[in-house]
Amino acid sequence: MKTLTILSGKGGTGKTTITASLAVMIAKEKKIVAVDADVDAPNLAISLGLKNKLKEVEKIKAAHKSSFSEEKCLACGKCAEICAFNAISWKPGEKPVFNRFLCEGCGACALACPAGAIKLVEIENASAVRGETDYGFKMVGAQLEMGESGSGKVVDEVKQAARELAEEENTELVIVDAAAGIGCPVIAAVRESDFVVGIAETTPSGFSDLKRALQVVEQFGIPYGIIINQWDLNPEKTEEIEIFAKESGIPVLGKIPYDKDFVKSLVELKPAVEFSTKIEKLFEPIVESVLGEIGD
Ligand code: SF4
Ligand code: SF4
Repeated sequence: MKTLTILSGKGGTGKTTITASLAVMIAKEKKIVAVDADVDAPNLAISLGLKNKLKEVEKIKAAHKSSFSEEKCLACGKCAEICAFNAISWKPGEKPVFNRFLCEGCGACALACPAGAIKLVEIENASAVRGETDYGFKMVGAQLEMGESGSGKVVDEVKQAARELAEEENTELVIVDAAAGIGCPVIAAVRESDFVVGIAETTPSGFSDLKRALQVVEQFGIPYGIIINQWDLNPEKTEEIEIFAKESGIPVLGKIPYDKDFVKSLVELKPAVEFSTKIEKLFEPIVESVLGEIGD
C-alpha cells in the first residue's frame, strides 16, 4: 500500500478540487482510500459529494487543557502571571478563572502552582469520521470540537484511522489531501508519504509559498512533482514555474487551465471530472503521470 499526498503552499489554489478529481480517476484503476488531512478546513467531503454524510467512527484525544481544583487553590495568582496565552484571569484575594478556549495546554500554570491545584488533562478535541463516496471508495477525515484547532496529532490520528480502513479494504493507494502551508498538520500529512504532488498557483505569493512547502517535503527525502493550476491566467508566471521545475529536476505532472466548469462542479457538489467530460479528458494524462511517478 502506497500513500500519495497533495499539498499547496497556500489556500485557494484548487488543491482539494484537484485532489477529489484525482481520487475519482485513480479509483477507476486502483482500490483507494481518500483522507482529508486538512482538519481545520475540511472540504474534501464536499468536493466528493459527501456533505453531511460522514459518520463518526471514534473520538480523538489529541490535546491537553488545564484542570483546576478550587478547594486546593491558595489564590496566589502565580498561574495567571505565568500563562502566556491569557487563559487565566485573576484579581488579588480571589481565585483564578480559567478560559478553556484560550488554554493551549502548555502546562506552565501546573508547574508554577505552589498548591498542586492545577493538572493537565487529555481532552477529546476531534472525532474521526468516515463516509462512502458514490465513486467506489471511502473517505476518512476529522471534525474538530468547537473552539479547537487542528494539530499534527489530530492528523496523525486521522491517518491512523485511514490506514486501518485501508488494511480492511485491501487498498493499494491512500490519497491524502493535506492542509495548506508549512505548519504541523502539513508535516504530519506529508510524513510517510511515497509521493507528494504540489499544486502551483500562478501568482507570485502562490509560487513562493509552494516552494516553501516543497522544501518541507525535501526534508523528508520524499519525491514530488507539481501540477500547475489555472496556468493560462498568468502564462508568464507559468513559464517561470516551468523553468524553476526544469532547473530543479521537478516533474511537471500537468497543467490545468481556468475553466468555469470547475466552479459549476463545486456548486453541484460533484468532482469536476464527473461533472465535465472535457475535464475528465484533461485529467487522464495527469493521472497517468502521477501513477507513473508513484511507480505503479
Ligand atoms: S496550560 Fe498553559 S495555556 Fe493553559 S492555562 Fe495553563 S499556562 Fe495557560
Ligand atoms: S497558582 Fe495555584 S494556588 Fe495560586 S492562584 Fe493559581 S491555582 Fe490557585
